[in-house]
Amino acid sequence: MTSVSATELLDAWEAGWGRDPLRRGLALLAVARGTTRAAAADVPVGLRDRALFAFRAALFGTGVEAVSRCPGCGTDVDVAFDQRDLLAALPGPVSGQQVPDTVTVRVDGRDVPARMPTSADLAAVLDAGPPAPDEALAHRCAPTAPVAAVAAAWTAADPLLDLRIDLGCPDCAHTWEETFDIVAFLWAELDAWGRRTLHEVHDLARAYGWSEADVLALTPWRRRCYLGLVGA
Ligand SMILES: [Zn+2]
Repeated sequence: MTSVSATELLDAWEAGWGRDPLRRGLALLAVARGTTRAAAADVPVGLRDRALFAFRAALFGTGVEAVSRCPGCGTDVDVAFDQRDLLAALPGPVSGQQVPDTVTVRVDGRDVPARMPTSADLAAVLDAGPPAPDEALAHRCAPTAPVAAVAAAWTAADPLLDLRIDLGCPDCAHTWEETFDIVAFLWAELDAWGRRTLHEVHDLARAYGWSEADVLALTPWRRRCYLGLVGA
């Protein structure tokens, strides 16, 4: 476990509840870093994702298990891998915190700076609701550079911005790629954990008259012992 308390995790879960994926990512990053969501919004998206991979490893481990659907024949395909292998397979220094804040894009023979996109940039684009969000994002971060060149420079500087997994179907041998979204994956795990934890609070509060804070202050092991005693 990390040093993050069960109460802080539940607060993050509540902060992201019913929000869009971007705000969920901010709620997760804020609790992972012990900072505010406003401060977390200024972190480049690639660094956010590194922090969330590390946070996930500490909370739930590094194993990833999921089910995907074969686009060829519609069969459900079990997906299982270790997130460390996924990150190690990417080109460049993905594991470090060595992503630049700004990259250079060559435009008409001169170098133009392009900021790496942050959650604040994504939020501004999302909230404005333009028809072409990719263009709007590129223009925010590098006003004079062509959109495609900016996008290429971003993923060259940080391959984590375009994280994909290779999948294959055991039934029909079809192969395909899927994006791996650490925010969505970690959120789903936090959501399941949050629901389970509130159930435990409910059972123990009802049995012993303890407050939510009392129950959450117990270690998970001791909580399980008491749940066993009350037959929950
Ligand atoms: Zn198939």
